[in-house]
Amino acid sequence: MARRIVIAGNWKMNKTVSEAVELAKAVVAKAGEAPASVDLVIAPTFVCLTEVAKVLAGSRVSLAAQDLHWEESGAFTGKISAAMLVSAGVKYVIIGHSEQRQFFGETDETVNKKVKQALKHGLLPIVCIGELLAEREAGQTDAINERQLKGAYAGVSADDAKKSVVAYEPVWAIGTGKVATTEQAQEAQAFIRKVLVDLYGSEVAEIIPIQYGGSMKPDNAQGLLAQKDIDGGLIGGAALKAEDFIGIAKGA
Ligand code: PEP
Repeated sequence: MARRIVIAGNWKMNKTVSEAVELAKAVVAKAGEAPASVDLVIAPTFVCLTEVAKVLAGSRVSLAAQDLHWEESGAFTGKISAAMLVSAGVKYVIIGHSEQRQFFGETDETVNKKVKQALKHGLLPIVCIGELLAEREAGQTDAINERQLKGAYAGVSADDAKKSVVAYEPVWAIGTGKVATTEQAQEAQAFIRKVLVDLYGSEVAEIIPIQYGGSMKPDNAQGLLAQKDIDGGLIGGAALKAEDFIGIAKGA
């Protein structure tokens, strides 16, 4: 089975409901310019999901959420459940983004709980991993990625793992304009694929798309996406302009 190419836009804490609807419409209008084989995904904030879902209905663009909580329901003020996301028309969910890890106490354990909860409800997890600059400089890139990956997938079956996407996002490249070189990204992602082989065997590891994320733009996307183990992108800043987002997808 060929690996899917998944280009996902993480809108982070940007866009009001009307602005999100406008941007989603622009993405849908341009979606036909991207190769048909590419899965296009956009992740607005929670409050925009239901309105954006209406815009995406019948289009080739899928809806993602930026997080979820691992419990079914109850006294968890401020949190959103998997069932709520499903009811809003969400297909993918970003889990373990470095901003969640850095600012909101996300750990390998909470990532693991969220991945399992998403899969239980039929949501497709986009599992984010990646090293800090200090960790790269200390030669710990592979060790960090292995720890985060094994933490995220602990107790997840091969059949479920096949439904997931991994996003390799070197933290020093996120929102900094400092993109990893194609060699740095390919090297890290080949190692990540090797860890997936250790966990699930080569047949499953070959199916799981591994995205690159970190200052991806239309002018650097093609080189990155041409690499053997780069199967798409998780895009922050550039996803806030339909032209740039689709421009990146065109590089696939
Ligand atoms: C991200 O936050 O997932 C990301 C990759 O951001 P940016 O593209 O802005 O670096």
